[in-house]
This record gives sequence, C-alpha cells and structure tokens, in this order.
Amino acid sequence: MTHVVTTACVDHKYQECVAVCPVEAFREAEKYLVIDPDECIDCGACIPECPVGAIYADTDLPDEQESWLDRNENEAVDLPIAEGDSPVLADS
Ligand code: SF4
Repeated sequence: MTHVVTTACVDHKYQECVAVCPVEAFREAEKYLVIDPDECIDCGACIPECPVGAIYADTDLPDEQESWLDRNENEAVDLPIAEGDSPVLADS
C-alpha cells in the first residue's frame, strides 16, 4: 500500500501535505508533488491537509486516477525531496 498524489495537484502544489508527513515521502516535480511509495508509511495524515483533495490511499484511488499510481512511483525516483517551501503555482 501507499498514498498517491493525483491530477488535482497539477499547477497548484499547495504543499500543506509536506509539513505533516513524518517520513519526508513527498517529492517535488516542477508543477506537482508525488509520493515515494518506498518511503510512505500510510499514516494518512496528508489526505485532509490537501486543499484540492489530490491525495488518496492507493486502495481508494478513483479509476480515472489509476495512472497516477505508476506515475508517483516512477517519477519519485528522480525527483528531490519536497521541502514545502516552493511557491504555490496558482490558486484554484
Ligand atoms: Fe507521508 Fe503519511 Fe501521506 Fe504517506 S500517508 S505521504 S507517510 S503523510
């Protein structure tokens, strides 16, 4: 099991999730965050923090967001740890 950042994060990157993650599982791409499944301990703390509801447990992932499961895993490998201090890209 892991948790997954999905399409609602794109172009926002609010990052409240980063502050509550106990294991620094978030990784930062240019326009969104992803979660490293090798780091995530499935505590669920990040889910209610996201203002746009972008984070799901993989067991609750909507069908239309399934591609984000592999995307989080594959992209996390090459991305830096999110520090939570990058500018928000755009308010919705
Ligand atoms: Fe971090 Fe917990 Fe969210 Fe996993 S579920 S990314 S460990 S806050």
